[in-house]
Amino acid sequence: MILLDGNKLSAVIRKEIGHRVIDFCGKEIRPPHLAAVLIGDNPASQAYVRNKIKACEEVGFASTLIKKPETTTQEELLDIVRGLNEDPKLDGYIVQLPLPRHIKEEEITLAIDPAKDVDGFHPNNFGRMALGMPSFLPATPMGIMIMLDRYQIPTDGKHCVVLGRSNIVGTPIALLMSKKSKPGNATVTIAHSRTQNLSEITRSAQIIIAALGIPHFLKEDMVSPGTCIIDVGINKIEDTSHAKGYRLVGDVDFEKVKYKCSAITPVPGGVGPMTITALLENTWRAFREKK
Ligand code: NAD
Repeated sequence: MILLDGNKLSAVIRKEIGHRVIDFCGKEIRPPHLAAVLIGDNPASQAYVRNKIKACEEVGFASTLIKKPETTTQEELLDIVRGLNEDPKLDGYIVQLPLPRHIKEEEITLAIDPAKDVDGFHPNNFGRMALGMPSFLPATPMGIMIMLDRYQIPTDGKHCVVLGRSNIVGTPIALLMSKKSKPGNATVTIAHSRTQNLSEITRSAQIIIAALGIPHFLKEDMVSPGTCIIDVGINKIEDTSHAKGYRLVGDVDFEKVKYKCSAITPVPGGVGPMTITALLENTWRAFREKK
């Protein structure tokens, strides 16, 4: 079994990005610059944004954190977005999701300049991705594709089952896996909360990408020997043996499934760091496309 180590692979790729920054930037040329907008005090969002800012420092990017209270209005957030769109010293930015319930997420996404949309959520980028045109890919699916590529996991002609159909993970990764590309060229099934006979479907897969948000959902008896498993889930479960009183687990029953599969991502340390690495790649690309 190969452990698909997102931390190790990210360290390698981030070093490569760091070298690109050193080679390209200098006294005359500023480094790539990413901004993150964080609304409210959601602890998970705070941790994600902190890791993104830290990753920027690691590769020599400039970064800006815009932190606003939970009470921020739709109009105030739209003003921030417009300001970021117009800032010539900024290459890309993200608005960390989820947003407070009184904010209309769709309106905010639509207001982001697609050329700075390094999260790849704007319909311009999503549509271009669907058509196979150059675009910013959503960071998590892009991180998975980079991982499959670097670990040389065969995908051509394989049956890939995606568990989940969200706009940020399930749907885009299903699209990318079915594209005429490498990695890609898979025969893809999207399963969701209404899918029947799920175990039968997952047992017929050679690749399973789990993105449901249900701890330990994918059990040993749902997987055939030799399957490659990508676990996207990040779930908190109570664990009094940990100082925080909880630990993070994926959507896969890792300890039991790992003996059956050919390759598997751990949680934490699998898809999570690859997501941030993909965001850095998108920021680099936004920076280079401007030059
Ligand atoms: P979501 O809640 O938007 O979507 C969950 C999907 O799972 C839905 O499409 C639903 O139909 C499907 N589903 C629910 N029950 C099911 C069942 N019994 N059988 C089959 N499908 C079922 O979630 P999301 O935003 O796509 O996130 C999924 C998980 O991935 C979460 O744990 C989230 O925290 C994690 N996540 C991780 C990263 C990362 O960087 N590692 C990034 C994004 C999301």
